[in-house]
Amino acid sequence: MTTYQLEVIENTAKKDKPAQDQIAFGQTFTDHMYIMEYHTEKGWYDPKIVPYGPISLDPAAMIFHYGQTVFEGMKAYRTEDGRILLFRPEKNFERLNLSSERLSIPAIDEELVLEHLKQLIKLEQDWVPKTPGTSLYIRPYIISTDANLAVGPSATYKYMVILSPVGSYFTGGLKPVVIHVEDQFTRAVKGGTGMAKTAGNYSSGYQAQANAKKEGNADVLWLDGVEKRYIEEVGSMNIFFKIDGEVVTPELNGSILKGITRMSIIELLNSWGIPVTEKRMAIDELYEAYQAGKVEEVFGTGTAAVISPVGELNWQGKKMIINNHEIGELSQKLYDTITGIQTGKVEDTLGWTV
Ligand code: PMP
Repeated sequence: MTTYQLEVIENTAKKDKPAQDQIAFGQTFTDHMYIMEYHTEKGWYDPKIVPYGPISLDPAAMIFHYGQTVFEGMKAYRTEDGRILLFRPEKNFERLNLSSERLSIPAIDEELVLEHLKQLIKLEQDWVPKTPGTSLYIRPYIISTDANLAVGPSATYKYMVILSPVGSYFTGGLKPVVIHVEDQFTRAVKGGTGMAKTAGNYSSGYQAQANAKKEGNADVLWLDGVEKRYIEEVGSMNIFFKIDGEVVTPELNGSILKGITRMSIIELLNSWGIPVTEKRMAIDELYEAYQAGKVEEVFGTGTAAVISPVGELNWQGKKMIINNHEIGELSQKLYDTITGIQTGKVEDTLGWTV
């Protein structure tokens, strides 16, 4: 029977929860997951919360062959007084639909899935860890499920949500990372899928990331795909610079992901009276500014780490040591404020938490 009412099938075999200080990212999942089906003739239907476990798909399912899929990444945080907060979740669902549009996947009802997400988290509330720095990672995603090898959009999809408790990203506080500036491989080009959160954007980066790691870098900074000159973003983070007192970040150009942390940092800095310049930024110009001693801070921004200070950039054999590998004052203040808002310690004057 087709239904639009949320059905909940409780898991009677609940798992033991892991020790909160030893949770590796993305390897532990809660007792329940959410699934909703789509068919061109019915729209989205049959939303269900069911016990977490394997799903069955036809070997010809389109997701396996042509990668028609999108995903999101967000977190639920525990406050000191025991409440559970989401950080701007409506922005994630808005972005999910933007990604879906690019991948020819039908849109979901953003309000409905947020409402259902709250019900899922309520059911799994004991899985939201309490130790400082920990959270419950939320992974909404859509896969194409038609058994059909013909190249073209699927007629059926599954929208799913799985939940995973995660430990502190930086045990022992913020730690500046070493980043390789990639000038061989390309992540995205204008007109491509760079602004969408879709599988192929990530797996196509593995080779460059592996090469960079061999040389002691934590990740790569991508440049534009044509001239290999303009700065785009890091693996799963947007990037900011403080140069000669000015905060600058690459403008959204269609090939960069529209980060929700990025957006929040711009809005927060503006609320402090600090302007942020969004513009096209050339790596050679950054190097010139570095040589002139003007690069004060560099940091990545994303849901995983919130702020990840960059201590060193390696570009064509040249090293840029940023702020003597130390955490910048602005990076620390942004980190403390945003994590404070997320965990209820700092007043949420911008109305970001739910
Ligand atoms: N860029 C990419 C490619 C990402 O995967 C992410 C993580 N979603 C980000 C930037 C940061 O986005 P957000 O702040 O929304 O997590």
